[in-house]
Amino acid sequence: MSATLFPVPPVPVVAVRGESAGYPVLRVFCVGRNYAAHAAEMGVEVDREAPFYFTKSPAHVVPSGVTVPYPPGTEDYHHEMELAFALGAPLFRASREQAAAAIYAYGCALDMTRRDLQGQAKDKRRPWDLGKDFENAAVLAEMTRAAAFGPVGGQRIHLTVNGQTRQDSELSLMIHSCVDVLVHLSRYYHLGPGDMILTGTPEGVGPVHPGDVLEGGIDGLTPVRLTIGAAD
Ligand code: MN
Repeated sequence: MSATLFPVPPVPVVAVRGESAGYPVLRVFCVGRNYAAHAAEMGVEVDREAPFYFTKSPAHVVPSGVTVPYPPGTEDYHHEMELAFALGAPLFRASREQAAAAIYAYGCALDMTRRDLQGQAKDKRRPWDLGKDFENAAVLAEMTRAAAFGPVGGQRIHLTVNGQTRQDSELSLMIHSCVDVLVHLSRYYHLGPGDMILTGTPEGVGPVHPGDVLEGGIDGLTPVRLTIGAAD
C-alpha cells in the first residue's frame, strides 16, 4: 500500500562538507553523562563501565542556523554542545575495528534540553522524553567526512551564548569514545546508515532565553548556530 492518509514529511537531511548529497537522519541516539565534569555539575556519578542512552525523534531535528521558538512547558531551557557522528555502514555486535570503520562523518550538534522537566523525571524515576525529545531539540550542523576530520583526540569543543563562552572542553575528556559507544550500542541495535549519535556534553550547560544567539564549535568541524525566538 503506498497511499497515506496524511502527507508524510521528509526525513531530515544533514549536509556533508564537499558532498552533493546529504545524510538522511533516521534515528538519533544520545549518550548521557559522557564527561566527568558535566556529571559532577548535574550532581550524579559517572558510570565508566557502560554508557547509557536516550533517543530523539528524527522529526525533532533542525539544521544549524535556524531560529526556534522558546519551547513550551519549561522555564529552564538549556544548551548542551556535543560532538555528533553518523554511521555509514551496517553494524551489529561490532568489534572495535568494525566500529571505527563504520563512522562516516562527524559534526557539531546541540542537545537542547528542558532541564526542569528532565530533573522532575529523574526525581520520579520516569523517562526523560519531555525533557529531551521535543520539537527542535536536536540541532545538527554540516558534517565532515571522518577521513577529513582525522582521529578524535584533543580537539577543543566550545559554545558561546551572545559571544560569551559557556562551555569549553576537549574531546579527549569523553569517558566513552565514539568507538566504545558503537561497540556497546551495537549489542542492542542493528545499527546502520541513517543512525546519528550525539556523544554527550562537557560541563558548562546553562539556560538560554529569547533573543540569545548560540554558536558552538569543535576544531576542524563546521560550527553549529541557533537563535532562540519568542515563546510560542
Ligand atoms: Mn546531551
